[in-house]
Amino acid sequence: MLGTRDAVREAWRLDAVTSTTPLKAGPLRERGRRIRWLRHLAQAAAAFVVLWVGYDFVRWVRSLEAGLAVGSRPPGVEGFLPIAALMSLRHLWTTGEVHPVHPAGLVILLAVVGTGLLLKKAFCSWLCPVGTLSEMLGAVGVAGLGRRFKPPRVLDIPLRGLKYLLLLFFLHAIFVAMRPQDVAAFLDSPYNRVADVKMLYFFERLTPFALKVLAALVFLSMVVPYAWCRYLCPYGALLGVLSLLSPLKVTRHTESCIDCGLCTKACPSHVPVDRLLRVRSDECFGCLSCVAACPVTRALRVEAPSPWRLAVRPAVFAALLLLTFAGTIQAARTWGVWRNGITDREYGERLREIDSYDHLRGGAASGAVSGPRPPGDGHAAGRKH
Ligand code: SF4
Ligand code: SF4
Repeated sequence: MLGTRDAVREAWRLDAVTSTTPLKAGPLRERGRRIRWLRHLAQAAAAFVVLWVGYDFVRWVRSLEAGLAVGSRPPGVEGFLPIAALMSLRHLWTTGEVHPVHPAGLVILLAVVGTGLLLKKAFCSWLCPVGTLSEMLGAVGVAGLGRRFKPPRVLDIPLRGLKYLLLLFFLHAIFVAMRPQDVAAFLDSPYNRVADVKMLYFFERLTPFALKVLAALVFLSMVVPYAWCRYLCPYGALLGVLSLLSPLKVTRHTESCIDCGLCTKACPSHVPVDRLLRVRSDECFGCLSCVAACPVTRALRVEAPSPWRLAVRPAVFAALLLLTFAGTIQAARTWGVWRNGITDREYGERLREIDSYDHLRGGAASGAVSGPRPPGDGHAAGRKH
């Protein structure tokens, strides 16, 4: 217990005083280890919460199937319905009201957006469970292959554009092609009301095709670390765009830098940190691997832009991220926009006819939605937040 408290205290004070004198190998290793420990701690805590929510949700669905509700549905499961969340955002944008079906999904989306506006794509490397999984698969791949494979630039650049194309597709479908009444009709539809259970069934009853897609993504993530995040995740694309506005960025001070290149070598996003003054790249995950690798503590720091030049040390960066994310969720809970109003009884009744609900029509024959078709939710074989 004392050891953990000491470790937390040490991590909190890390880089409170910076120096222009390069650290020797031992202290540099120790400092890097502490910065990585902070991030892995946040990743582990986030993964634990996701697993807990998943366990609660599965237990609740199984009990409903047996005709007896046990426990309650955890609203956090709506974080795995990104398309419903985007639709709710459009609804909020058009009407100024939070749609009562899956409000937690919208809140989680806004919390993620908040982190992107303040702390670059730190959500991806500190909290996102898919990012954590991607990192683990990459580590397994590197251990097996003995090296990180990076596609050549001529392939890497167009591949990175794929996630932006996916994001554009969803934004166009929801914010341009669909009329406000179509969005509202879909949000109210039987399909959307049980989209969380549909998503669970999708993963429990994977089709051979979906299984092959998942297996391909796992393999790709092992060969090319962060392949999903770098090339395909529309959430990452959204954060990449927002991160350009982020005031806090990794900043290099040329007067202290000794041009050792360790920062660039450590960067999982292949950002040439040692050639930049400020890392503005949309691919920067805010993982602080470059900061952890830098032997001169004053040379590379997360900073606000001039004239403030306020430096944010690693533990404060982590605290800001957790406060932004958890604070948004807590505020929503306080204002009563977290739990949906669907009763267990309605869920139980809809579960009996759930296979007849169609995401293209929004519901069974009685709940059909007209107008442009919404993109499917809970059907993408890849990332779920
Ligand atoms: S190593 Fe540095 S530049 Fe690279 S993604 Fe992490 S924070 Fe950004
Ligand atoms: S900023 Fe990069 S190149 Fe400069 S001292 Fe730090 S690790 Fe070395």
